[in-house]
Amino acid sequence: MADIRTAIIAGNWKMNYGPNLAAIFAQEIVPELAQLVSQHEHIRCILCPPAISLPAVRQVLDAQPSSQVELGAQNMYFEDKGAFTGELAPTMVEELCSSVILGHSERRTIFGETDELVNRKTLAALYHHLRPIVCIGENEAQHDAGETGQVIRQQVQHSLANLPPQHVQEVVIAYEPIWAIGTGKAATAEGAGKTISQIRTLYGGMYGKEAASTLRILYGGSVTSANIAEFMAHPDIDGALVGGASLKHDFVEIVRKTVETMSQ
Ligand code: PEP
Repeated sequence: MADIRTAIIAGNWKMNYGPNLAAIFAQEIVPELAQLVSQHEHIRCILCPPAISLPAVRQVLDAQPSSQVELGAQNMYFEDKGAFTGELAPTMVEELCSSVILGHSERRTIFGETDELVNRKTLAALYHHLRPIVCIGENEAQHDAGETGQVIRQQVQHSLANLPPQHVQEVVIAYEPIWAIGTGKAATAEGAGKTISQIRTLYGGMYGKEAASTLRILYGGSVTSANIAEFMAHPDIDGALVGGASLKHDFVEIVRKTVETMSQ
């Protein structure tokens, strides 16, 4: 990855680990994560447990303060309060978290989230000083039909529309080809890097060259400690959004390999 961009390794625990298990797991990994990331000033690690477990993980992080290990939510709504049963407001998320994952493919495909909704959430996150990690990516049929470029263009242009100029450098994009999520069939670093470089060009077209050069773009899809070094060695890939492997001690190994690769 480029020197100027701070790498992010984010763990998306999805619907796993309620408060008790989340606290136990966080107590196991947070001291090691904090020690590892302290070796490189340009790495951040973000834990994204289910909403109900955010306070439990916050407590563990507060007991082991490291500005480089952060907390993130997996989703939120865009309104500040009101009659939106089951939703989390940005004002609630910002009490505990620095980041929020938005538009994950599971939100898009299972819960019907559109680019327009993801856009409203992104704008709300930025307004509340939360770092949005906006997920985009093509499905297998689109990939096989050679439609990746046009799917990505549509998602970037619509999910990231109308960003206030002062916030364009705070956005993080996670490129997650859906066919690679949870399948054990990761993209190659070269393949992911090619699409990520297209995403950077698209963002540059919307918000200018400087915003594009500082934009962090993560890869997500079956990342493990066995393949993270390959992704981190690619100049266009600024980190990873990790699902399955973030539920195990392998997440610490992913961060260890990231530190090693970036220290070379
Ligand atoms: C994800 O859900 O964002 C993800 C990348 O999952 P996995 O690492 O399990 O493929």
